[in-house]
Amino acid sequence: MRESRKSPSPSTFGDRVLGKLFGFPQCCIDFYCESPSLVRCQAKGFLGYRFCPSCSDRSEEEVIKSINDNRICPVPFPYQPSMEHLSDILQSPHWTEIERAWLMENRSRYMRTDHELLDLTAAFHNEMSVLDRQLNEDVQREPERKMYLMALHEKRRHELSMSLLNGVHEEFSHRMKMTLRKPKPSPE
Ligand SMILES: [Zn+2]
Repeated sequence: MRESRKSPSPSTFGDRVLGKLFGFPQCCIDFYCESPSLVRCQAKGFLGYRFCPSCSDRSEEEVIKSINDNRICPVPFPYQPSMEHLSDILQSPHWTEIERAWLMENRSRYMRTDHELLDLTAAFHNEMSVLDRQLNEDVQREPERKMYLMALHEKRRHELSMSLLNGVHEEFSHRMKMTLRKPKPSPE
């Protein structure tokens, strides 16, 4: 049933590079790349990571510790790196030139996106637009209260801006906490 010799298949090249980036044990990378998808799906898993049959007997804690010890990715398992980690990843001496080029070209496959920040700012933009419309309607309805309504509007705008800034601050604090190793200062 099993082929006795495997030559490196180009279709698994990316998966192998990602396995190395994320510090997965070589036996598990081989298992992942060489097993039919049904076997892979039935294997013990932890989020995106699949345990090979021999690692299934190890404790999850032990495997996760070894993943973090071998990880080139500067954020711990199971977190994904974001764009500020890219140069740190590419500068690692553990890559061949071909692997490094693949990582550069396929960064959308392993980078955390900025969706959280985009969602925050889109929600902010929507609430601000609603607020502006609301002010116009209120002033038309009760023109004699215009000065007070404008003051209220400014107060609400200020509160919304503060909550956006808090959200941005929390998002960046989260990213900083998620760093395993301090990125090396760039040589400039
Ligand atoms: Zn394994």
